[in-house]
Amino acid sequence: MAESIQIGNATIKPGERAFGYLSVGTLAARTEVRIPYQVINGAGDGPTLCLESTLHGWEPMGAEIIRRASLQIDPQELNGTIFCLPLANPLSVEFGGTIESSGMRVNPADVLDMNRVWPGAKVNAWLTEQMAYALWNEVIKHCDYIIDMHDGTGACDELPVAFPQVFPSDPDLAIAGGVADGIGADASDVGGVLTPEAMAKMNEQIRDLAIAFGSSVIWLRERPMNPAMLSGQCALNGIVPLVVEAGGACTIDFTVDEGVDCLLNVVKYLEMIEGEPVLPERQIMVDNYVVYRSLTGGFYIQELEVQLGLEVTKGQVLGRVVDPVTSEVVETCTSPVNGIVISRRVRMPINPGGYIAHIADTDAVIWERDNR
Ligand SMILES: [Zn+2]
Repeated sequence: MAESIQIGNATIKPGERAFGYLSVGTLAARTEVRIPYQVINGAGDGPTLCLESTLHGWEPMGAEIIRRASLQIDPQELNGTIFCLPLANPLSVEFGGTIESSGMRVNPADVLDMNRVWPGAKVNAWLTEQMAYALWNEVIKHCDYIIDMHDGTGACDELPVAFPQVFPSDPDLAIAGGVADGIGADASDVGGVLTPEAMAKMNEQIRDLAIAFGSSVIWLRERPMNPAMLSGQCALNGIVPLVVEAGGACTIDFTVDEGVDCLLNVVKYLEMIEGEPVLPERQIMVDNYVVYRSLTGGFYIQELEVQLGLEVTKGQVLGRVVDPVTSEVVETCTSPVNGIVISRRVRMPINPGGYIAHIADTDAVIWERDNR
């Protein structure tokens, strides 16, 4: 039988939807730090799913995708519970999502990346670690599945794409990373917890969840889990994580609608709501995916035909970085692989290292499915 949910001081009964805040503390000028949540507690039994976005505040489109998807879920018709954490790093959104500049990925209060502090800490801890601690202990550790949403940043628009990361087959390489200065967990905190059987099962669940998400491209990475990252910490604790990106450039367009379909695909796959998934005609999984970045700065002038989903050939010109005064072409940006354009830059001024495009390598397809 479905049960009431406890979060902070609130109790949410089966069949109810509730909104609230997790309070974390106050800043120097006494501005309260609070993280908003939505709980949709289904009338029926089922798994617990977390839909989370904006660990990086300059990627706010996941919040809009979660908002739209949540409106299509009736708690009376839901089996299980959905926790929505659309603004997991609210201070980063304040300064990353709204300011008319290059934006900010980190929490401005302590300049930490909220995807390198998990599972957080409460004492002797930076603010970002305290925020992660609240999210982990009030919400995430109680979940069976989590979708960690990112987007193309303010610079790029982006099709929905799933980035499943699975444990390497060699168990000695299962865990690596952690960060400097004692922030976030390191391998010694979690080593030896997982058996090879448990890792194999987790890998299968992550892969299946990525396919169910229903993006046209899935980039599978087999590499050690970093316990300081949310997805790694979840996988090491038996919570099935899926990192996805969808939308970008702080813009409402068809990528948002497709992102909503993908989130609802997950809810249907977990049998939390009824309905057929909305899938593209063809899905591919690749093990090579190029996040292509510029070498130099200037104004980026994109080739007109380079739209999302375009198939490009190796060497095809994507755009050019131009000296904004002299018109000199300082860099011609060409696709390093045969592939599909998953994200593309829409912001003209660019610094060295700026995002140009994501290209899924179509010579590196390891799985595909025809959905027609
Ligand atoms: Zn991100």
